[in-house]
Amino acid sequence: MRLTVLGCSGSAPGPGLPTSGYLVEAGGVRIALELGSGVFAPLMRHCDPFDLDAVLLSHLHLDHCADFSSLVVYRRAHPAPPYDVTERKLPVFAPAHAPSRLANAHAASRADLATTDLTDTVDFVPLTTGRYRVGPVEVEVAAMRHICEAYGFRISHGGVSLVFSGDTVPCPELVRLAAGADLLLADSAWRAQAGRANYLHMSGREAGEVARTAGVGRLVLTHVLPWSDRDGILRDAGEAFPGPVALAEPGATYAL
Ligand SMILES: [Zn+2]
Ligand SMILES: [Zn+2]
Repeated sequence: MRLTVLGCSGSAPGPGLPTSGYLVEAGGVRIALELGSGVFAPLMRHCDPFDLDAVLLSHLHLDHCADFSSLVVYRRAHPAPPYDVTERKLPVFAPAHAPSRLANAHAASRADLATTDLTDTVDFVPLTTGRYRVGPVEVEVAAMRHICEAYGFRISHGGVSLVFSGDTVPCPELVRLAAGADLLLADSAWRAQAGRANYLHMSGREAGEVARTAGVGRLVLTHVLPWSDRDGILRDAGEAFPGPVALAEPGATYAL
């Protein structure tokens, strides 16, 4: 299994740094994990978008799905697609309200929205806690704790597992999902601040504590906000987790 970081900036892009987006390759399939703002450009550097076998969207904040619109345009407007995109639709695993939410983001006006239907080249698969398959790859889905419906994914193939937290605060559901995983790609938006209500994201220290409790092999910190203290987040996570820990960087690849 191979994980490539396409973008990893949290909530808003940074200079030359798209928001959430990853490419996961395993068992001969390619999965776009999140399509945040600016992610479609680096995706094309690593993969022909027509070669994707599935898209996984953890939730529908735009820093995780804004470039879905670019994918729709690419599939519809490309003059020479390698196959009939209306016959071989791309599965998109996403929260149940994705068809209307993404149509809202895609349409240019309220009048345009009335006729906007994105299902001509993609098939939406509504997510719930459970197990899904993309070819030989298993995707276990668990509900996370964020300010909207949000999911974490455990992607497994050939005895190897990658877990992605999406956006969440620390929770038993994430610890259970990540138990014994080879790599945990974890929301680590900021350094912990006393007195700040935390209903959105994990701190570096919290991500490290989840990784330690779940007994994962390695921890990769992502969704760091553009104004956050990256070195401090890495240090805090490293104090809480005894295994290898790194900050996600665009273009970085991890072979599992
Ligand atoms: Zn986010
Ligand atoms: Zn979010």
